[in-house]
Amino acid sequence: MKLLRVGAAGSERPALLDADGVLRDLSGVVPDIDGALLADEEALGRVRAAADAPGELPVLDGADGAHGADGADGAELRIGPPLARIGKIVCIGLNYHDHARETGAEPPAEPVIFFKAADTVVGPNDTVLVPRGSTKTDWEVELAVVIGRTARYLGSAEEALGHVAGYAVAHDVSEREFQIERGGTWDKGKNCETFNPLGPWLVTADEVPDPQDLSLRLWVNGELQQDGTTAEQIFPVGEVVRYVSQFMTLYPGDVINTGTPAGVAMGRPEPKPYLRAGDVVELEIGGLGRQRQVLRDA
Ligand code: ZN
Repeated sequence: MKLLRVGAAGSERPALLDADGVLRDLSGVVPDIDGALLADEEALGRVRAAADAPGELPVLDGADGAHGADGADGAELRIGPPLARIGKIVCIGLNYHDHARETGAEPPAEPVIFFKAADTVVGPNDTVLVPRGSTKTDWEVELAVVIGRTARYLGSAEEALGHVAGYAVAHDVSEREFQIERGGTWDKGKNCETFNPLGPWLVTADEVPDPQDLSLRLWVNGELQQDGTTAEQIFPVGEVVRYVSQFMTLYPGDVINTGTPAGVAMGRPEPKPYLRAGDVVELEIGGLGRQRQVLRDA
């Protein structure tokens, strides 16, 4: 299923995208799409039954399903983040062979972990703010993993995949000077307002048979910048979830951003093409949908 949340920021309603690409209102079936739903087999069963007979659900008119108008925050059928009440966002750094090469870093022996605050999450087509004083705002298309079952000390990557509820497109927007040149830690350059567009959809794991066979692409002002595949991940999704669960408990509604492939601005020759107000970033992952953000100064 492709689950999403539609409406003004803070008052989104749950919806699904049916097989014909029609947006259907789920608010008569479940109150919202969040960790509580993902952990509730009975409620998920009701959503699945509704998805199997989508004609019974009201159609949501007006959402274009791909991307809203420039600065669509607050528009009635804006697409919001596909998950409410995110607990935590664990991020994996340098998790693609090609990205590690372009940054000049050795491939890490163990996954590099950092965090983004859940309040950095915005809708897939919302405005992204260039922070005050920023000269090195950069892009990173990433596969986001959404946890559906509490995960503690998992024993294998295979067991770990059974704790994944679904997947989404994430944009791990990053300010490189704040991240790297301002005395540590990376968190300074990762938690600026609006720095984690998520969605458009939460695609349930049954629709993603192989998370290591997904294409990721990102364009800036129409020009292709990142063109990667999750086959390049140093630590695949199951191993990432298993590994993280050795250090912290993962709960339903937590998210893991699993790293970005090559092609970020930081990896380019000078002058590096960092983002500025007015730039348009589009990103997509095969089968998981597409995002579009216009940048503005904070
Ligand atoms: Zn990242």
